[in-house]
Amino acid sequence: METKDVLYLPSGRIFIQRLCDGYIIESTEMRDVAVDGKLHMEVRESQNPQTIWKHLVPYEKKWLLTVSTQKGCMHNCQFCDVATLPFKGNLTQKEIEEQIENIIICSPYVAKSDKVKIGFARMGEPAWNVDNVLGAMKNLNDISNSCGRDFKWLPCFNSILPRKAECLSRVIDFKESIYNGRLHLQVSCNSTDESVRKELFGGADVLTIDEVVGIVNKINITSRTITLNFIVMQGVEVSVDKLKAMGLNGNKFTVKLIPLNKTNNPENNKLNTVANYSNYEKLIELKEKFEANNIPVVVDAIAKCEEAGLCCGQLAQIYL
Ligand code: SF4
Repeated sequence: METKDVLYLPSGRIFIQRLCDGYIIESTEMRDVAVDGKLHMEVRESQNPQTIWKHLVPYEKKWLLTVSTQKGCMHNCQFCDVATLPFKGNLTQKEIEEQIENIIICSPYVAKSDKVKIGFARMGEPAWNVDNVLGAMKNLNDISNSCGRDFKWLPCFNSILPRKAECLSRVIDFKESIYNGRLHLQVSCNSTDESVRKELFGGADVLTIDEVVGIVNKINITSRTITLNFIVMQGVEVSVDKLKAMGLNGNKFTVKLIPLNKTNNPENNKLNTVANYSNYEKLIELKEKFEANNIPVVVDAIAKCEEAGLCCGQLAQIYL
């Protein structure tokens, strides 16, 4: 695998790597941006990289990595630019681990970190490559130790949960047995209307939210709750009442509300975000509805000046 290019955003880098067969994959390293109160708005709306630089969280506290798990993706989600790339199958465990090693080696100044959150979710659906993904997750300590770094890892499995991949119980079992619960499982939901969900996932046959809640409620979950991700889009239902009726509770679940980023595929599919940098109060209104029902909720944000290139598959499109 060779690094073909590195692109810089105010809070991190995107690595463009070429595999032996010529396919291009992306991996990233970013720093978190402190987003409290007024600073939050300042960071979100600014077009000035210096504003981001002023509020970067130190590497020692938190470092955010993502790696690809497949060459493209077999799914055709309307909100994701990876969907438009050709699909050429799974990455090997070695190819996944090489992306991690590359990021670490290219960051010699990060000797120690209390939280290195790594999403196996840049390009590809990890559920279809679960053996290699869990294999790489298991080796994280070995990888950082062999590079002489002192990292506390937080692996993150983000999935639409394709029904036939049958990985939900397996990932939870791995979370509890190998990581003592300290693994972040995020399920892509996006709507509480299952027919709309299916459409958004390009027709993919995925576990319903009701099924996910039913399965998780029967399993012991420690440390990190399971996160249900909702990219909040205009005209797309996100019903707190429906989720409550399914048995969603704060002991097992957290909800994450995410603005839709402006990239090619969502634009072609005429999807529009409910909130962006300037009208964030609309997401906050929804957040308050969840809180009123005792469901823990976090709201994600993207800074305006990082929108170009930050989303999965945006740059690989250009290189491929
Ligand atoms: S969101 Fe995930 S599953 Fe859907 S196309 Fe993108 S990478 Fe594939």
